[in-house]
Amino acid sequence: MANDIDDAQAELDSVEAELEMLELQISELLEKQSKLNSRKSKLLKTLEGACSSAQPSGSSKAPKPTFSKQDLQHHEESDFSWSKEVQGELMSVFKLSKFRPLQRAAINLSMSGKDLFLVMPTGRGKSLCFQLPALCSKGFTLVIAPLVSLMEDQLMYLKSIDVAAVTLNASSSKEDSKRILAGMIDKNSPFKLLYVTPEKIAKSKLLMSKLEKAYNMGLLARIAVDEVHCCSQWGHDFRPDYKLLGILKRQFPKVPLVGLTATATSSVLKDCQKILCVQNPITLTAPFNRPNLYYEVRFKDNENCIDDIAALIKGKYKNQSGIVYVFSQKDAENVAVDLRKRDILAQPYHANMQPSDKTLVHKHWASKRIQVVVATVAFGMGIDKADVRFVIHHTISKSIENYYQESGRAGRDDNPADCIVFFGFMDIFRISTMVVMENTGQQKLHNMVAYCQNVDRCRRSLMAIHFDEVWNDDECDQMCDVCRHGNDYVTMDITKHAQDVVSIVEHASSMDEKLTPLKVCEAWMGKGPAKHRKMITATSLSRLEVESIIIHLLLHGYFSEDFSFTPYTTHFYLKLGRKSALLKNSSHSITMKMRRILPSFSTADVI
Ligand code: ADP
Ligand code: MG
Ligand code: ZN
Repeated sequence: MANDIDDAQAELDSVEAELEMLELQISELLEKQSKLNSRKSKLLKTLEGACSSAQPSGSSKAPKPTFSKQDLQHHEESDFSWSKEVQGELMSVFKLSKFRPLQRAAINLSMSGKDLFLVMPTGRGKSLCFQLPALCSKGFTLVIAPLVSLMEDQLMYLKSIDVAAVTLNASSSKEDSKRILAGMIDKNSPFKLLYVTPEKIAKSKLLMSKLEKAYNMGLLARIAVDEVHCCSQWGHDFRPDYKLLGILKRQFPKVPLVGLTATATSSVLKDCQKILCVQNPITLTAPFNRPNLYYEVRFKDNENCIDDIAALIKGKYKNQSGIVYVFSQKDAENVAVDLRKRDILAQPYHANMQPSDKTLVHKHWASKRIQVVVATVAFGMGIDKADVRFVIHHTISKSIENYYQESGRAGRDDNPADCIVFFGFMDIFRISTMVVMENTGQQKLHNMVAYCQNVDRCRRSLMAIHFDEVWNDDECDQMCDVCRHGNDYVTMDITKHAQDVVSIVEHASSMDEKLTPLKVCEAWMGKGPAKHRKMITATSLSRLEVESIIIHLLLHGYFSEDFSFTPYTTHFYLKLGRKSALLKNSSHSITMKMRRILPSFSTADVI
């Protein structure tokens, strides 16, 4: 028995020793494997580079891995064999007199067969960059768009300018589908653009078979993927069917592809490139920075806001054109009336007006018969007035993307122009309930509010970070309020204040009561109903400070939004946020930067 045990023990020892050896070998092998893998990928890259530069590519030069300024200039300025035709169609069909920046380069690159990603803010005219080449090429261009409504907008527009374009989607009739599928392999190409949803590509073998036939006949001229960021899960609008679009480049490698988007970071674009199986795309990005725009945020004083805006318009912007963006159609009407009362030539513009009235307002504004358009976001499409000297936001935008785009309508002539936001506490919650149905609506709004609440960082740098742009703070050149008036803020310890105001909301919720932000302000300032007053510590802070702190706590998760729906409206209440419990912890502290013009903080709070 004892012998057996000894033997077993001896064997166990040797098995363990062997295992140890194996593990050592495994780790050595793993190390070797990872070294070989990295060597392999390096070799593959070298080979890929050599292959693609060995391939003929239409132009005499091989595609370079990076696209230089000179390359861009060449494509923006030089004449190509198709230039005359392209210019002709621009004027005769699209009725446009000249290209906007990057359009010519994009069109020339696409016409010369390059794969292209085009990143340009919404409304700058990306569609032209595939619609115009479509007219100047044999066969048809396949356009993938994520929403039927987006396709219909483009189809309506194309119809109005007599460009033959069709769509195949889930609601196409049998006859239409048949006609379109036949047209795809018709040498006379009865249409120049075919719009499809990505689902169609993913699900219809019939469509793929016709595409293949068209490809072999040389009739598939180009593939345009609109809203290309939808491919990537890292983008803000991922659509699963976009993931399957790689099949297009795999099946039709010789057809140039153009991907278009307004908002894609470089990592999203890399992802899209992989998903779409595009080897060496050229990426054109519209310059992000608008150096001639001055960005400023002002506190909105609800009572005097109109007077403040009127003073600007009659003073600094006398006789100059501008836009005042407002929250709602009703606001557009009211603010326009209020400005007219102050002798300013202003007209409202919103989606609910007669098309003829809208056109009239636009025309009168363009010809300077009115000075100001008081507009909702509906005022945007097709505005091409170069000398807009100011864009004033009577209400903050719902996202930084929106703000960038709306404010970007100023100064298109490259002369100085101002972009001023009036930042009001209550407006935050009006917008919050408006975007309640959007998945990322609150996050986007938070980003916009953080932009307004910011007191210490260059406004341009905040936008650059938001859009994932490389940024160097010197580039602002004092063209934002923060850079111009820098250091006009103090850092405060607001821990005690935060505890006080959070306990107000906690107390209310323990009594099953919901508080609107306004009610929270009032209660904290000692103006609430008597039954609450004895429970809370009224603050001596000013109204603006109270609001700023509540906003800070909302942005940082000490409060969060609590929506309640009635058949008529959505209510906004404040509830405790995920971080509110931290305030019970005596070592937890919160600091906040505040403008110095807010005076009533006790000096003890200043850090
Ligand atoms: P995007 O897709 O970039 O959001 P669109 O292609 O829908 O923009 O174009 C927005 C608007 O700009 C359209 O009304 C279009 O007619 C107009 N547009 C496009 N290119 C030009 C141009 N070169 N000059 C003037 N207007 C243009
Ligand atoms: Mg578009
Ligand atoms: Zn700045």
